[in-house]
Amino acid sequence: MARRINQLLRGRVVLIEKNKKNPIEEAWPLNEELYERIEGGSWKNKKTGEFYRVKGEIYRREPANYSFDDPKVQEHLANGGNIGYLCGSNKIYVIDLDRIELLREFEEILGETLTIETKKGYHLYGESDEELYRIILEKNKVHFGELQGIGQQCLIPPSIHPSGKEYKVFKDLPIVKLTKDKLELIKKKFTDKPRTFTIQSPDWTQYKNFSGLDMNVLIFRLPQLKKYGNELYGPHPVHGSTTGMNFFVNPLKGLFHCFRHDSGGDALALISILEGIRNCEDFRKDGIKLRGEDFKKVIKIAEEKYGFSFPRKTQNSQPNNKSVLSQLNIRIISVKELMEMDIPLPRWIIKDIIPEGSIVLLAGKSASMKSFLSTLMAVCCMYDKNFLGKFETNRGTWIYFDEDNPLRLTKDRTLKVLRGSGVEVPENFKYISQSGLKLDIDDHVEILEQIIREYKPSVIILDSLIKFLATTNENDSGEMDNIFNKIRRLAETYNTTFLIIHHLRKSSSDKRPTDSDEMIRGSTAIVNSCDVINVISRKSKSYPYINFKQVKNRYDRELDPFIILVNQTSDNSGLTFELTASVAEEQDAVSQAADEIYEWLVREKEWDDSSNRIFKTIEVRKRFNRHFNEKDERNRKIIHSAMISLMADDRIEQCPTKGYYKVIELLTDVDMQEGSEDNQEDETAENISEQN
Ligand SMILES: [Zn+2]
Repeated sequence: MARRINQLLRGRVVLIEKNKKNPIEEAWPLNEELYERIEGGSWKNKKTGEFYRVKGEIYRREPANYSFDDPKVQEHLANGGNIGYLCGSNKIYVIDLDRIELLREFEEILGETLTIETKKGYHLYGESDEELYRIILEKNKVHFGELQGIGQQCLIPPSIHPSGKEYKVFKDLPIVKLTKDKLELIKKKFTDKPRTFTIQSPDWTQYKNFSGLDMNVLIFRLPQLKKYGNELYGPHPVHGSTTGMNFFVNPLKGLFHCFRHDSGGDALALISILEGIRNCEDFRKDGIKLRGEDFKKVIKIAEEKYGFSFPRKTQNSQPNNKSVLSQLNIRIISVKELMEMDIPLPRWIIKDIIPEGSIVLLAGKSASMKSFLSTLMAVCCMYDKNFLGKFETNRGTWIYFDEDNPLRLTKDRTLKVLRGSGVEVPENFKYISQSGLKLDIDDHVEILEQIIREYKPSVIILDSLIKFLATTNENDSGEMDNIFNKIRRLAETYNTTFLIIHHLRKSSSDKRPTDSDEMIRGSTAIVNSCDVINVISRKSKSYPYINFKQVKNRYDRELDPFIILVNQTSDNSGLTFELTASVAEEQDAVSQAADEIYEWLVREKEWDDSSNRIFKTIEVRKRFNRHFNEKDERNRKIIHSAMISLMADDRIEQCPTKGYYKVIELLTDVDMQEGSEDNQEDETAENISEQN
């Protein structure tokens, strides 16, 4: 059997009558991922709570689908029976295409994938993390086929169609991702309800620009491409496109991608395709790529036809004295000259927190919301908004290198900050996600320098320092000095500030360093190299306060420490960050409210079931209406913070049902133990944003 089919066979299969298309057993779609068994043996939909019924009766037996190697399946096959794949059981779905002539068009959208030949057409397989349900593909009364979703099954080899035709593997290829955008495009083209399709750029992290060549030279020769942000898209220059957007170029990264073949690479690869030396599909993940004589041939064409030049290693590279001096930047100045020099004070990008053309460290433990605060700083600078309502900002372009988080988290974080700040999507705030850029690889530093030259950012965020080191040991002062010298040169040459996100040492409970700068991980060279160091901390992942402490400021006296209150917007979609009016006052108000609410819960409130003290937020709001503050909004915020504080102290806990909480029994001292807050690596603010 063809090898790609194995990916399907890791899911669930259904027994089908010999030479027929109908499942033999009842309850074959009963999927244990969607249904849970409850007391009495019946099955309940985890989402809707509905019972699973067969012909109106609540079903109480075992689900009738199996793993492929189940003896029952093997025996059934041996007896000439057919089998079906239970759609969605291994996150895999099927597009059942009835029209042979549309294969190309669907492949253009989906990418070529595992394809089974059927009686009338093809089954194209796709993987999706989302739960998909059946979509009939029909437009203007013309039927094209359907997407088979949860609750559907689909015959697979070695089954035989009632007509006698065998289900055969037509294309033995890996199953492609069925992304939202692909689905939207299919819906738009093949169903009556038109939907907007958003252009989506490819995942560039799968490619490297080996040649380091500038794509711009090639783009001039591809006038059919349209601009999309920093990228360009359009029909593939060689094999064309039916959607008009199967080809993407990212000039900054020097890469291209073809959605039809799920292939791509750098400028040399593209030249080889344009010149007919290679096919587009040769640059698939498992393709033959470019090497040997062909590689040399392409290099020659690149130089002669496209005007690229390739540095060749030369022997006579002995530098003369003058260039050594300029390399070292030696310039002797007299005291008199020095006195006459006009050296301006540093300009602040964010007053007292981020100076211009400098190196700033933002250090904190995991889950202290370092990435959130950096994002907020950038957003404030986009709109001349004071950071935390207090610190003046200066407008400029920011580039955020996010090596720590996948794009999904980056997007989620940015959305929360934008919504919390009540601003539009900014233009001059850019991300570079999981680029693999390393500061100890000279070629990479050169790419970074190119980016700075092109975009002239006022700030570059590096999240986080350790991710930008390939072989450098962060505890070695010589090696770290070397890294920071490179950053310093870029910062000064281009007047760009580097905001570097860094982790704190994990503190052991018995030995707590007193100085915050002692807690900064790695060599002291890091502390010495930075102009400003800000350290933030948060008691736990769900705690609404962030302590902000400046431990070094080369230009001014260090800021007094302050506390930032994190809250969600009233519609839960965003996060707000406020400077607490008076730190002590604010914390007092909340902790008093927390105590009062807890007192009420354990002493006064009447319970239906006192062994299971579950309550709703709304009950607390009613009981303490205008109690903590006369203004409703303020009162709501105090209650909200108090609830979070009660959760952080393990006095109440959230129930699985939204809006419900449970009072936790007071434990004896023996059972009390400090929770570890350090094992959460990604800085989501989930607990905060899921309140209400
Ligand atoms: Zn292609």
